[in-house]
Amino acid sequence: MPAHNCPLCRCLTDTEFCRDRRRTYWQCPQCELVFAEKSFWLCAADEKAEYDLHENSVVDVRYRQFLNRLAAPLMQRISVPARGLDFGCGPGPALQAMLQEVGFEVDVYDIFYAPDPGVFKCGYDFITATEVVEHLHDPKFELNRLWSMLHPGGYLAIMTKRVQGQAAFANWHYKNDPTHVCFFSETTFYWLADSWQASVEFPASDVVLLQKPART
Ligand SMILES: [Zn+2]
Repeated sequence: MPAHNCPLCRCLTDTEFCRDRRRTYWQCPQCELVFAEKSFWLCAADEKAEYDLHENSVVDVRYRQFLNRLAAPLMQRISVPARGLDFGCGPGPALQAMLQEVGFEVDVYDIFYAPDPGVFKCGYDFITATEVVEHLHDPKFELNRLWSMLHPGGYLAIMTKRVQGQAAFANWHYKNDPTHVCFFSETTFYWLADSWQASVEFPASDVVLLQKPART
């Protein structure tokens, strides 16, 4: 049986976690990331076509409430003035608007909709990634890059639905989106926090806050 390389920690695995009509999913023995087999990953053009179907408007009240599950706990922990980056903002930068309204300075990046590589040369007090990490083909590279851009004491705020075990996964609508390839659990985030010496909090069922140690 061929072994599969974990996209987050590069560990090899042949542990099949789930198989459905369309894809096979593997689980990493080290970080417990569950990932769709790479042979099923979409090319960039097909991914973009899927994203264009999502209409996330800046003024949509329900979408703002959804984003607030991440924004509210983040805003309790940082104060103005602070500068952040919304990584993977998508076509309608709603979170940027929400955070700017309360006085934060917020840059955006999106590989398809706001591809300004200049942001990667900047330092930030906070970085948000809502409904992004499940799409990443190279989460090791992308997350380490974001982490390196955070100032000491800064927060990386991630929103993604979390794996709740094998039985629940089998019936999980979240895995059926063909652009979703990486599925994190609490254990995966604890592994990540450990590798970064970060502190980790789970303020909502789909939100995690990772804080970089303050400079000592
Ligand atoms: Zn792994």
